[in-house]
Amino acid sequence: MNVPFLNLKAQYDLIKDEFSPKLEKVMQSSAFAGGPFVEEFEKDFAAFCGCKHAIGVGNGTDALWMALIGLGVGRGDEVITTPSTFIATTEAISFCGADPVFVDVDERTGNMDPVLLPQAITGKTKAIIPVHLHGQAADMAPIMDIANRHNLIVIEDACQAHDAEYNAKKAGTMGAAGCFSFYPGKNLGAFGEAGAVTTDDDQLAATIRMFRDHGQAKKYHHSIIGWNCRMDGIQGAVLTVKLKHLRVWTEGRRKNAALYNSLLRDLDELVLPVEADFARHVYHIYAIRTERRDALLEFLQGKGISCGIHYPVPIHLQEAYRHMGHKAGDFPVAEKLAATTLSLPMFPELSEEQIRYVADAIHEFFRNH
Ligand SMILES: *Cc1c(COP(=O)(O)O)cnc(C)c1O
Repeated sequence: MNVPFLNLKAQYDLIKDEFSPKLEKVMQSSAFAGGPFVEEFEKDFAAFCGCKHAIGVGNGTDALWMALIGLGVGRGDEVITTPSTFIATTEAISFCGADPVFVDVDERTGNMDPVLLPQAITGKTKAIIPVHLHGQAADMAPIMDIANRHNLIVIEDACQAHDAEYNAKKAGTMGAAGCFSFYPGKNLGAFGEAGAVTTDDDQLAATIRMFRDHGQAKKYHHSIIGWNCRMDGIQGAVLTVKLKHLRVWTEGRRKNAALYNSLLRDLDELVLPVEADFARHVYHIYAIRTERRDALLEFLQGKGISCGIHYPVPIHLQEAYRHMGHKAGDFPVAEKLAATTLSLPMFPELSEEQIRYVADAIHEFFRNH
Protein backbone atom coordinates (compact mmCIF):
# COMPACT_ATOMS: atom_id res chain seq x y z
CA MET A 1 0.00 0.00 0.00
CA ASN A 2 1.14 3.56 -0.61
CA VAL A 3 0.45 6.16 2.03
CA PRO A 4 1.41 9.67 0.92
CA PHE A 5 2.46 12.25 3.49
CA LEU A 6 -0.14 14.63 2.09
CA ASN A 7 -2.79 14.24 -0.61
CA LEU A 8 -4.14 17.55 -1.81
CA LYS A 9 -5.91 15.93 -4.73
CA ALA A 10 -8.12 13.84 -2.41
CA GLN A 11 -9.48 17.05 -0.92
CA TYR A 12 -9.85 18.69 -4.31
CA ASP A 13 -11.78 15.72 -5.71
CA LEU A 14 -14.31 15.90 -2.87
CA ILE A 15 -15.29 19.54 -3.43
CA LYS A 16 -14.12 20.36 -6.94
CA ASP A 17 -17.60 21.28 -8.18
CA GLU A 18 -17.69 24.19 -5.73
CA PHE A 19 -14.75 26.00 -7.30
CA SER A 20 -15.81 26.52 -10.92
CA PRO A 21 -18.73 28.92 -10.38
CA LYS A 22 -16.67 31.01 -7.95
CA LEU A 23 -13.57 31.11 -10.15
CA GLU A 24 -15.74 31.96 -13.16
CA LYS A 25 -16.92 35.05 -11.26
CA VAL A 26 -13.34 36.12 -10.61
CA MET A 27 -12.46 35.74 -14.25
CA GLN A 28 -15.64 37.47 -15.47
CA SER A 29 -14.89 40.44 -13.21
CA SER A 30 -11.11 40.42 -13.80
CA ALA A 31 -10.61 41.10 -10.07
CA PHE A 32 -7.23 39.41 -9.96
CA ALA A 33 -5.05 41.52 -7.62
CA GLY A 34 -6.80 42.17 -4.31
CA GLY A 35 -10.40 43.28 -4.85
CA PRO A 36 -13.85 42.00 -3.82
CA PHE A 37 -13.00 38.28 -3.64
CA VAL A 38 -10.14 38.97 -1.27
CA GLU A 39 -12.44 41.26 0.78
CA GLU A 40 -15.08 38.54 0.98
CA PHE A 41 -12.51 36.07 2.31
CA GLU A 42 -11.14 38.64 4.77
CA LYS A 43 -14.62 39.11 6.26
CA ASP A 44 -15.28 35.38 6.45
CA PHE A 45 -11.89 34.58 7.96
CA ALA A 46 -12.13 37.35 10.57
CA ALA A 47 -15.59 36.05 11.56
CA PHE A 48 -14.29 32.48 11.68
CA CYS A 49 -11.44 33.49 13.99
CA GLY A 50 -13.64 35.80 16.05
CA CYS A 51 -11.57 38.93 15.49
CA LYS A 52 -12.21 42.32 13.96
CA HIS A 53 -9.91 42.29 10.94
CA ALA A 54 -8.20 39.86 8.62
CA ILE A 55 -5.92 41.39 6.00
CA GLY A 56 -5.09 39.19 3.02
CA VAL A 57 -1.46 39.25 1.91
CA GLY A 58 0.86 37.36 -0.42
CA ASN A 59 1.91 34.54 1.93
CA GLY A 60 2.60 33.72 5.58
CA THR A 61 6.10 35.19 5.49
CA ASP A 62 4.62 38.51 4.30
CA ALA A 63 2.05 38.30 7.08
CA LEU A 64 4.77 38.02 9.75
CA TRP A 65 6.88 40.73 8.15
CA MET A 66 3.98 43.15 7.83
CA ALA A 67 2.73 42.54 11.36
CA LEU A 68 6.22 43.38 12.66
CA ILE A 69 6.58 46.48 10.48
CA GLY A 70 3.02 47.60 11.19
CA LEU A 71 3.69 47.39 14.92
CA GLY A 72 6.84 49.47 14.58
CA VAL A 73 9.48 46.77 15.03
CA GLY A 74 12.71 47.69 13.27
CA ARG A 75 16.45 48.27 13.45
CA GLY A 76 17.99 47.86 16.88
CA ASP A 77 15.03 45.90 18.27
CA GLU A 78 15.14 42.32 19.50
CA VAL A 79 12.33 39.89 18.87
CA ILE A 80 12.08 36.70 20.91
CA THR A 81 10.97 33.46 19.27
CA THR A 82 11.96 29.77 19.36
CA PRO A 83 14.49 27.90 17.24
CA SER A 84 11.92 25.12 16.65
CA THR A 85 10.11 26.68 13.73
CA PHE A 86 10.14 27.15 9.99
CA ILE A 87 12.75 29.73 9.04
CA ALA A 88 10.11 32.25 7.85
CA THR A 89 9.52 33.29 11.48
CA THR A 90 13.08 34.56 11.87
CA GLU A 91 13.39 35.75 8.26
CA ALA A 92 10.54 38.18 8.91
CA ILE A 93 12.33 39.45 12.04
CA SER A 94 15.59 39.88 10.12
CA PHE A 95 13.88 41.53 7.13
CA CYS A 96 12.44 44.32 9.24
CA GLY A 97 15.94 45.03 10.54
CA ALA A 98 15.48 43.52 14.00
CA ASP A 99 17.43 40.68 15.62
CA PRO A 100 15.90 37.34 16.58
CA VAL A 101 16.59 36.06 20.09
CA PHE A 102 15.80 32.45 20.91
CA VAL A 103 14.10 30.78 23.84
CA ASP A 104 14.14 27.01 24.12
CA VAL A 105 10.94 24.99 23.88
CA ASP A 106 8.83 22.80 26.14
CA GLU A 107 9.79 19.21 25.39
CA ARG A 108 6.19 17.99 25.52
CA THR A 109 4.80 20.38 22.93
CA GLY A 110 7.76 21.85 21.03
CA ASN A 111 6.37 25.30 21.79
CA MET A 112 8.01 28.26 23.55
CA ASP A 113 8.73 27.47 27.20
CA PRO A 114 7.30 30.45 29.14
CA VAL A 115 9.51 29.63 32.13
CA LEU A 116 12.60 30.48 30.04
CA LEU A 117 11.10 33.62 28.51
CA PRO A 118 11.98 36.26 31.17
CA GLN A 119 15.73 35.58 30.99
CA ALA A 120 15.74 36.32 27.22
CA ILE A 121 14.29 39.81 27.72
CA THR A 122 16.73 42.73 27.46
CA GLY A 123 16.39 46.50 27.19
CA LYS A 124 16.18 46.06 23.41
CA THR A 125 13.35 43.52 23.38
CA LYS A 126 10.34 44.84 21.50
CA ALA A 127 8.24 41.81 20.62
CA ILE A 128 7.69 38.09 21.20
CA ILE A 129 6.60 35.67 18.47
CA PRO A 130 5.25 32.42 19.91
CA VAL A 131 4.83 29.80 17.17
CA HIS A 132 1.83 27.47 17.40
CA LEU A 133 3.91 24.55 16.19
CA HIS A 134 2.30 21.61 14.38
CA GLY A 135 -1.15 23.10 15.00
CA GLN A 136 -1.04 23.32 18.80
CA ALA A 137 -1.26 26.71 20.50
CA ALA A 138 1.69 27.82 22.60
CA ASP A 139 0.94 28.47 26.29
CA MET A 140 -0.37 31.98 25.68
CA ALA A 141 -1.54 33.01 29.18
CA PRO A 142 1.92 33.16 30.80
CA ILE A 143 3.44 34.55 27.58
CA MET A 144 0.86 37.39 27.46
CA ASP A 145 1.35 37.99 31.15
CA ILE A 146 5.13 38.35 30.83
CA ALA A 147 4.71 40.50 27.70
CA ASN A 148 2.28 42.84 29.46
CA ARG A 149 4.54 43.20 32.47
CA HIS A 150 7.48 44.18 30.23
CA ASN A 151 5.39 46.22 27.79
CA LEU A 152 6.20 43.91 24.85
CA ILE A 153 4.19 43.22 21.70
CA VAL A 154 3.04 39.64 21.04
CA ILE A 155 2.66 38.46 17.44
CA GLU A 156 1.39 34.90 16.99
CA ASP A 157 2.86 32.76 14.24
CA ALA A 158 -0.36 30.85 13.52
CA CYS A 159 0.82 29.66 10.10
CA GLN A 160 0.25 26.03 11.14
CA ALA A 161 -2.71 26.66 13.42
CA HIS A 162 -5.90 27.54 11.48
CA ASP A 163 -8.86 26.67 13.72
CA ALA A 164 -6.57 25.72 16.64
CA GLU A 165 -7.69 26.93 20.06
CA TYR A 166 -6.19 27.99 23.37
CA ASN A 167 -8.78 27.79 26.16
CA ALA A 168 -11.54 28.16 23.54
CA LYS A 169 -9.88 31.22 21.94
CA LYS A 170 -8.79 30.82 18.34
CA ALA A 171 -5.08 30.88 17.57
CA GLY A 172 -4.14 34.22 16.05
CA THR A 173 -6.55 36.29 18.17
CA MET A 174 -4.70 36.63 21.48
CA GLY A 175 -1.67 38.74 20.59
CA ALA A 176 -1.61 42.15 18.89
CA ALA A 177 -1.60 40.26 15.57
CA GLY A 178 -1.90 36.70 14.26
CA CYS A 179 -0.12 35.57 11.12
CA PHE A 180 -1.50 32.86 8.86
CA SER A 181 -0.16 31.06 5.80
CA PHE A 182 -2.43 29.54 3.18
CA TYR A 183 0.41 27.71 1.44
CA PRO A 184 -1.20 24.74 -0.36
CA GLY A 185 -0.09 22.17 2.22
CA LYS A 186 -1.39 24.10 5.27
CA ASN A 187 -4.66 23.11 6.96
CA LEU A 188 -6.37 25.82 4.91
CA GLY A 189 -4.49 26.04 1.61
CA ALA A 190 -4.85 28.20 -1.48
CA PHE A 191 -4.21 27.18 -5.10
CA GLY A 192 -0.84 28.92 -4.82
CA GLU A 193 0.57 31.35 -2.27
CA ALA A 194 -1.49 33.40 0.18
CA GLY A 195 -1.47 34.61 3.77
CA ALA A 196 -3.30 36.87 6.23
CA VAL A 197 -2.81 38.97 9.34
CA THR A 198 -5.58 38.92 11.95
CA THR A 199 -6.03 41.72 14.49
CA ASP A 200 -8.54 43.69 16.58
CA ASP A 201 -6.42 46.83 16.19
CA ASP A 202 -8.05 49.23 13.67
CA GLN A 203 -4.88 51.27 13.31
CA LEU A 204 -2.69 48.23 12.61
CA ALA A 205 -5.23 46.88 10.10
CA ALA A 206 -5.26 50.21 8.25
CA THR A 207 -1.45 50.39 8.20
CA ILE A 208 -1.09 46.85 6.84
CA ARG A 209 -3.82 47.43 4.22
CA MET A 210 -1.85 50.45 3.03
CA PHE A 211 1.53 48.78 3.30
CA ARG A 212 0.56 45.72 1.23
CA ASP A 213 -0.60 48.05 -1.55
CA HIS A 214 2.41 50.36 -2.06
CA GLY A 215 1.54 52.53 0.93
CA GLN A 216 -1.43 54.05 -0.83
CA ALA A 217 -4.72 54.95 0.83
CA LYS A 218 -5.92 56.37 -2.50
CA LYS A 219 -4.63 55.28 -5.90
CA TYR A 220 -1.27 56.90 -6.73
CA HIS A 221 -1.28 58.84 -3.45
CA HIS A 222 1.33 57.15 -1.26
CA SER A 223 1.38 58.07 2.43
CA ILE A 224 4.06 55.57 3.47
CA ILE A 225 6.76 53.62 1.65
CA GLY A 226 5.04 50.29 1.31
CA TRP A 227 5.41 47.16 -0.74
CA ASN A 228 3.38 44.91 -3.03
CA CYS A 229 2.07 41.91 -1.13
CA ARG A 230 -1.58 41.78 -2.05
CA MET A 231 -3.49 38.52 -2.11
CA ASP A 232 -4.65 37.29 -5.55
CA GLY A 233 -8.38 37.48 -6.26
CA ILE A 234 -8.33 33.84 -7.30
CA GLN A 235 -6.81 32.81 -3.96
CA GLY A 236 -9.44 34.82 -2.09
CA ALA A 237 -12.17 32.97 -4.01
CA VAL A 238 -10.58 29.54 -3.45
CA LEU A 239 -10.10 30.22 0.28
CA THR A 240 -13.71 31.44 0.68
CA VAL A 241 -14.91 28.12 -0.74
CA LYS A 242 -12.50 26.05 1.35
CA LEU A 243 -13.03 27.91 4.64
CA LYS A 244 -16.59 26.51 4.81
CA HIS A 245 -15.04 23.03 5.13
CA LEU A 246 -12.27 23.82 7.59
CA ARG A 247 -14.14 22.74 10.74
CA VAL A 248 -14.93 19.35 9.22
CA TRP A 249 -11.34 18.96 8.02
CA THR A 250 -10.07 19.81 11.50
CA GLU A 251 -12.33 17.12 12.97
CA GLY A 252 -10.96 14.68 10.40
CA ARG A 253 -7.39 15.45 11.46
CA ARG A 254 -8.25 15.12 15.15
CA LYS A 255 -9.99 11.80 14.53
CA ASN A 256 -6.98 10.51 12.60
CA ALA A 257 -4.64 11.63 15.38
CA ALA A 258 -6.79 9.86 17.97
CA LEU A 259 -6.62 6.64 15.94
CA TYR A 260 -2.83 6.90 15.59
CA ASN A 261 -2.62 7.51 19.36
CA SER A 262 -4.69 4.45 20.20
CA LEU A 263 -2.75 2.20 17.82
CA LEU A 264 0.72 3.38 18.87
CA ARG A 265 0.16 3.90 22.60
CA ASP A 266 1.63 0.53 23.61
CA LEU A 267 5.04 1.21 22.02
CA ASP A 268 7.39 2.27 24.84
CA GLU A 269 10.02 3.30 22.29
CA LEU A 270 7.79 6.10 21.00
CA VAL A 271 6.79 9.47 22.39
CA LEU A 272 3.41 10.44 20.96
CA PRO A 273 2.24 14.03 20.47
CA VAL A 274 0.76 15.52 23.64
CA GLU A 275 -2.34 17.71 23.52
CA ALA A 276 -1.97 20.22 26.36
CA ASP A 277 -4.97 20.84 28.66
CA PHE A 278 -5.38 24.34 27.27
CA ALA A 279 -5.13 23.33 23.62
CA ARG A 280 -7.33 22.14 20.83
CA HIS A 281 -4.63 20.69 18.56
CA VAL A 282 -5.43 20.76 14.83
CA TYR A 283 -2.61 18.39 13.82
CA HIS A 284 -1.15 20.25 10.89
CA ILE A 285 1.64 17.79 11.66
CA TYR A 286 1.30 14.54 13.62
CA ALA A 287 4.84 14.09 14.95
CA ILE A 288 6.08 11.12 16.95
CA ARG A 289 9.50 10.94 18.58
CA THR A 290 12.07 8.15 18.72
CA GLU A 291 15.84 7.86 19.10
CA ARG A 292 15.74 5.60 16.03
CA ARG A 293 14.09 8.24 13.86
CA ASP A 294 16.29 7.92 10.77
CA ALA A 295 16.10 4.13 10.65
CA LEU A 296 12.32 4.22 11.13
CA LEU A 297 11.94 6.83 8.40
CA GLU A 298 13.86 4.64 5.98
CA PHE A 299 11.94 1.51 7.00
CA LEU A 300 8.59 3.22 6.45
CA GLN A 301 9.74 4.57 3.10
CA GLY A 302 10.45 0.97 2.05
CA LYS A 303 6.84 0.14 2.97
CA GLY A 304 5.48 2.89 0.71
CA ILE A 305 4.81 5.26 3.60
CA SER A 306 6.00 8.86 3.14
CA CYS A 307 7.01 10.73 6.28
CA GLY A 308 8.57 14.12 6.93
CA ILE A 309 10.84 15.81 9.48
CA HIS A 310 9.65 19.15 10.88
CA TYR A 311 12.33 20.35 11.27
CA PRO A 312 15.71 18.59 11.03
CA VAL A 313 17.88 21.65 11.85
CA PRO A 314 16.81 24.18 14.50
CA ILE A 315 17.15 27.79 13.35
CA HIS A 316 20.07 28.66 15.67
CA LEU A 317 22.18 26.01 13.88
CA GLN A 318 21.18 27.06 10.34
CA GLU A 319 23.96 28.42 8.16
CA ALA A 320 21.90 31.53 7.44
CA TYR A 321 22.02 32.43 11.14
CA ARG A 322 25.68 31.53 11.71
CA HIS A 323 26.40 35.20 12.43
CA MET A 324 24.47 34.88 15.70
CA GLY A 325 27.33 32.73 16.96
CA HIS A 326 25.23 29.90 18.40
CA LYS A 327 26.57 26.38 18.78
CA ALA A 328 25.17 22.92 19.39
CA GLY A 329 24.02 22.70 23.00
CA ASP A 330 22.68 26.25 23.23
CA PHE A 331 19.04 25.13 22.99
CA PRO A 332 19.16 21.48 24.01
CA VAL A 333 15.43 20.75 23.90
CA ALA A 334 15.00 22.17 20.40
CA GLU A 335 18.04 20.16 19.30
CA LYS A 336 16.71 16.97 20.86
CA LEU A 337 13.36 17.40 19.12
CA ALA A 338 15.06 18.11 15.79
CA ALA A 339 17.03 14.87 16.10
CA THR A 340 14.15 12.62 17.12
CA THR A 341 10.93 13.90 15.60
CA LEU A 342 9.17 12.14 12.71
CA SER A 343 6.01 13.40 11.02
CA LEU A 344 3.61 10.64 9.97
CA PRO A 345 1.17 10.98 7.06
CA MET A 346 -1.60 13.36 8.15
CA PHE A 347 -4.49 14.87 6.22
CA PRO A 348 -8.26 14.79 6.79
CA GLU A 349 -9.00 12.25 4.06
CA LEU A 350 -6.50 9.67 5.34
CA SER A 351 -8.41 6.37 5.63
CA GLU A 352 -8.60 4.14 8.69
CA GLU A 353 -7.02 1.40 6.57
CA GLN A 354 -4.05 3.64 5.76
CA ILE A 355 -3.58 4.64 9.40
CA ARG A 356 -3.70 0.99 10.50
CA TYR A 357 -1.15 0.12 7.80
CA VAL A 358 1.22 2.85 9.07
CA ALA A 359 0.76 1.74 12.70
CA ASP A 360 1.35 -1.92 11.79
CA ALA A 361 4.54 -0.99 9.94
CA ILE A 362 5.82 0.94 12.98
CA HIS A 363 5.06 -2.06 15.23
CA GLU A 364 6.93 -4.30 12.78
CA PHE A 365 9.96 -1.98 12.87
CA PHE A 366 10.23 -2.09 16.66
CA ARG A 367 9.62 -5.86 16.76
CA ASN A 368 12.46 -6.58 14.33
CA HIS A 369 15.04 -3.91 15.12
C1 LIG B 1 4.39 27.96 6.51
C2 LIG B 1 4.95 28.73 7.64
C3 LIG B 1 5.35 30.07 7.51
C4 LIG B 1 5.44 30.78 6.20
O1 LIG B 1 4.31 30.75 5.41
P1 LIG B 1 4.47 30.92 3.81
O2 LIG B 1 3.06 31.10 3.36
O3 LIG B 1 5.10 29.67 3.29
O4 LIG B 1 5.29 32.12 3.56
C5 LIG B 1 5.75 30.75 8.65
N1 LIG B 1 5.81 30.14 9.84
C6 LIG B 1 5.47 28.85 10.01
C7 LIG B 1 5.55 28.24 11.37
C8 LIG B 1 5.06 28.10 8.91
O5 LIG B 1 4.75 26.81 9.08
